[in-house]
Amino acid sequence: MSGLKKTIIRTGLETLYFSGAYQMLRPFVSGVGAILTLHHVRPPRPDRFQPNRLLEVTPRFLEDVVRYLRRCRLDLISLDEMHRRLTAGDFRRRFVCITIDDGYRDTLQWAYPILRRHQAPFAVYIPTSFPDRLGELWWLALEAVVARNPRISLLVNGREQSFDCATVADKRDLFEQLYSLVRSLATEDELREVVRDLCSRYRVDIAAFCDEMCMNWNELAKLAADPLVTIGAHTVNHVMLAKVSERAARSEMDMSRSVIEASLGARPEHLSYPVGDKTSAGAREFKIAAELGFKTAVTTRPGVLFPAHRQHLMALPRISLNGEHQQLRYVRVLLSGAATAVWNGFRRVG
Ligand SMILES: [Zn+2]
Repeated sequence: MSGLKKTIIRTGLETLYFSGAYQMLRPFVSGVGAILTLHHVRPPRPDRFQPNRLLEVTPRFLEDVVRYLRRCRLDLISLDEMHRRLTAGDFRRRFVCITIDDGYRDTLQWAYPILRRHQAPFAVYIPTSFPDRLGELWWLALEAVVARNPRISLLVNGREQSFDCATVADKRDLFEQLYSLVRSLATEDELREVVRDLCSRYRVDIAAFCDEMCMNWNELAKLAADPLVTIGAHTVNHVMLAKVSERAARSEMDMSRSVIEASLGARPEHLSYPVGDKTSAGAREFKIAAELGFKTAVTTRPGVLFPAHRQHLMALPRISLNGEHQQLRYVRVLLSGAATAVWNGFRRVG
C-alpha cells in the first residue's frame, strides 16, 4: 500500500471518528456482526524497511481488541455458529468472528495463548503448500530481494530495467512499484515467473520462508485439537483464483480441503480466497465454492455483515486489523460499519 493511500485511509478513519459521524451512521450500518482478518501477530520489530507491515499486529493490540469486544458485549463465535445465525436469521445479539489467514507460526506462538485465555473461538485458513514446505510467499521474497540489495535489475515486458534501492526511502518506493507491477499482471503464472526470476538472480531461497515462518503439520495438529479452533481452507498454492483457469481454481479449492482432511483428520467446511479482493475472487470463484459445498467463504472486501448476507455465504466481507492502524479507536469505527459503508458507497452486499 502506498504512503499516500495509507494517509488517505487513516485520515478518513480519523475524520469519521472525530466528527462523531460514525455514531450517527451506526444504527443504519452496524449490521448484525463482523468477521475480523488477521495475518501475523507478533512483537514489533525495529527494521525501518517493513513494506509488509500492514499484515501484522502486536500481541498487545490483539489483546486490547479482544478485551474491547468483550466489554462491548459482542458474542465472539466460531464460523459454524456464524453460519447457523446467518441461515437461521438469529440476530438477537451482535457477533464477531476472528479469522487468521496463512497459518504463520506466530499464530501458535502469540495469537493462540491470548485467544485461549479469553476463550475466544477463531479460525485459521491454511494454504496447504505452506505446511507442505512447497509454498511461495512471494511478497516476502520481493521484500528480501529489495532489502538485501543496493540495486536490482529485472525483465519488465521483455526489457531489462535497473533500479537503485540503496536507501530506505528508495527501497520503499521500489517495493511499491514492484508490488503493483506483479499485482497488475494478468495471470498468477506471470507473477510467479517475475518473482522466481528475481529470486534466482539475487539468491533468495523462496522455499525457506515456509520453514522459517509457517506452522508445520504437527504444529497445526496442536491447534486443530482445541475445540476453540476451526481450520479452514485457503487453496493449495495461495493463488489469486481469478487469475488461473477455471479448472485450476476448482482444483486449488478442492485439493486444499482434501489435503487438510488427510493431514488433520477433519474436512474443512470454510474457505478464504487468497488475497481476496476483486482481482482475485469474483462470481466464478463464488459459484465454484458453492458447488464444492463449502458452508462459508470469506473475501477481503471490507464490510460488516447484514441479514442479506445469508444469500451471499460464498462472498462474505471482512474487517482487516491492519498493522498500520493499530489504535483501538480505528477498530471502533470499523466495527460500527461506518468506514466500510462509506468505502462501499453504502451498498450493503458487494
Ligand atoms: Zn493468505
